[in-house]
Amino acid sequence: MTSSIKSMLTLTSLLFSILIATLLILVSVVEHENQYRNYIEKSFVALSQNTSEDLVKALASEFVLSDVTSNLLKLDLHESVVAAYVYDKDEQLIQAYTGKAGSPELTASATLKNNFVGLTNNTLLGDGYFYLKQIVGSPDYQLGELYLVVDVNTPIIVARHKMMENAIPLGVLCALIVAFTFAWMLRLQFSTVFALTAFTRKVTKTRNYKARFNIKGRNEISSLANSINKMINTIENELNVSQKKSNQLQNQQDAMEQLANFDSLTGLPNRQFIMEFLRVELAQVKREGSDLNIMFFDLDGFKAINDSLGHDSGDSVLEQVATRLSNNLREGDRLARLGGDEFLLIPHAPESAQSLATIAEKVLKSMKLPFVENGLDLHIGVSIGIASASQASYQLSELISYADIAMYESKKSGKSCYTHFDASMVKGHLRKLSIANSISSALLENQFSLVYQPKMNPDGKITGFEALIRWQNQELGFVSPTEFIPIAEQGGKIPQITRWVINAVFSDMARLVKNFGDDIKVSLNLSAIDVIHMSLVDYIVDKSSDYQVRPSNIEFEVTESAYLESFEETHRFFSSLKMRGYSISLDDFGTGFSSLAYLTQIQVDTLKIDRQFVCGLEDNSRSVLVTQSIIDLAKRLNLSICAEGIETKSQFQRMVGEGCNTLQGYWLSKPMPIDELFKLDVYKLASEVATFIEPEL
Ligand code: C2E
Ligand code: MG
Ligand code: MG
Repeated sequence: MTSSIKSMLTLTSLLFSILIATLLILVSVVEHENQYRNYIEKSFVALSQNTSEDLVKALASEFVLSDVTSNLLKLDLHESVVAAYVYDKDEQLIQAYTGKAGSPELTASATLKNNFVGLTNNTLLGDGYFYLKQIVGSPDYQLGELYLVVDVNTPIIVARHKMMENAIPLGVLCALIVAFTFAWMLRLQFSTVFALTAFTRKVTKTRNYKARFNIKGRNEISSLANSINKMINTIENELNVSQKKSNQLQNQQDAMEQLANFDSLTGLPNRQFIMEFLRVELAQVKREGSDLNIMFFDLDGFKAINDSLGHDSGDSVLEQVATRLSNNLREGDRLARLGGDEFLLIPHAPESAQSLATIAEKVLKSMKLPFVENGLDLHIGVSIGIASASQASYQLSELISYADIAMYESKKSGKSCYTHFDASMVKGHLRKLSIANSISSALLENQFSLVYQPKMNPDGKITGFEALIRWQNQELGFVSPTEFIPIAEQGGKIPQITRWVINAVFSDMARLVKNFGDDIKVSLNLSAIDVIHMSLVDYIVDKSSDYQVRPSNIEFEVTESAYLESFEETHRFFSSLKMRGYSISLDDFGTGFSSLAYLTQIQVDTLKIDRQFVCGLEDNSRSVLVTQSIIDLAKRLNLSICAEGIETKSQFQRMVGEGCNTLQGYWLSKPMPIDELFKLDVYKLASEVATFIEPEL
């Protein structure tokens, strides 16, 4: 662009100069010709006058032709003279003269003379010739006439050529000087524009928006440069802002990616990430016809650490486990934390059963050293399940569940070992799967029912019941709650089940109260998942009012470990229930890993001594000691004590003897449907129990 402006301006100035020079030359030539023509006219008028004066003598006295001729021959000195004619007073041609510029056809005197007929002028200009008429003698005494023809064209042309020859080189030189001076001045003036153009080009190319144009002087171009500088400044600022924003976005995106794909505790890829990775890998090995192995790790004894030492210690142990597992990785191996205490390893290449066993043994060995936490040596094992893609027909969910099944086999066979998946293991797992898949439809189709197990006081009087859920399914047969409740917990189905139980118990309450008295307490079991949701408290309160159930007739049982899993939430949950008049009981007490100190902080009414201590009372002195301590502790804390799982008369007697307030077990009564409860002969039952107690006491 700039070069075109430059060349355009140079060309224009050149053309303009040439035009001016040409015009000047033309004007000079024309002027010169006019001047020259005047000069010729004047000179030849003078020449004709002189010649006619010279002829006076030759024509006056005696006509002498030779004198005339010699006078005319003097005209030879004048190269432009074409012809001359001398007439006597009778208008007879005396002599004709042809000059140097003459030619035969121009010597016709008659035509020449005729030109002046009727004219007052003595000179005439036409066809490039100058015609002159001159009287020889005086007008009063005319001796004759002289006619002269002069060529004016040829001298003018010659003069013009000469002039052109001199003027053109000069004109061209001037034109060039003017053009180049003009171009140079333009260049000088436009140098800033060119520099500015080069600068903007450079900025565009390098994207260096920190650069600024060095402004000199104060003219329009400087103000243009100033505006460009301001514009670049604005661009730089905008860029900085957008850079900051995009950095922020990038950081957010990175953080989101990190959150979405990596476990925040260990920094390992999380379940979502590794599953996606595995999906892609499976497709690839399937295409290639090769294989892929996965190793599923589940920690042994981790829950105990979490429960007894708290979540912070649990987290710290998990971090250490992740580090130890990572130390066993080879290049290309992928390790992920699936959640909780589960990890997954995908060895880089398909391995033989032998080399997989070597990896597993290395991992097991690495876990042998104790984990140090809070000054304690903690021992954690790992159960490993190994499966390969070809076994699972390259299906992701099958592959994971096969590794899971193999891992459970490791758990079953004593933990801290590894198991290669085998098709024969699927059967047991299939039942687990179909249980998980059938719970929702069981709720819809009302396949669940309730049984109530009476609870008695030492006198054999029924003081309440524990509501226990039952499930009879066409395909699965009878499914025990010990089997399906953990599966429902894993599958997120517990909230529906609990709500179903609450509705069922509350709808039975009116009949139970009517038959067994206003003071009875009916217990409902809650699982760990229930007690972290405050919405369940609202639900219980709403349903109590719907069914007109008094909170004092209801007790909620929760296991000690469930309580401790999320202490804060559970505490809030039960405080809220207690405030409304419901009772709380700690189920299976003694089986957890509690430090017992927490008992002083929580809101419970009853401790339910676990069946294993009741069983052990007769032959295990340690059980006796633990039971006695628990009862002693409960009494100090003013808690009521319930012994569950009483199967024998002796157990009953021992527990009563130890000071238990409530007793529950098959020996007293098995759990039964509500209608059968009403058939119970409570007086007979009480007197039977009483007779058992009496002799022993
Ligand atoms: P649990 O709450 O400790 O219930 C007591 C279990 O011991 C019941 O088993 C009961 O039938 C059984 N039992 C009672 N007396 C004796 C006895 O003398 N000897 C023996 N061997 N067992 C006795 P069940 O009904 O199979 O329930 C097992 C567990 O399932 C319950 O333990 C409880 O944790 C859970 N469960 C039962 N119903 C529900 C429910 O509605 N919701 C929740 N979340 N869990 C429930
Ligand atoms: Mg219970
Ligand atoms: Mg129990």
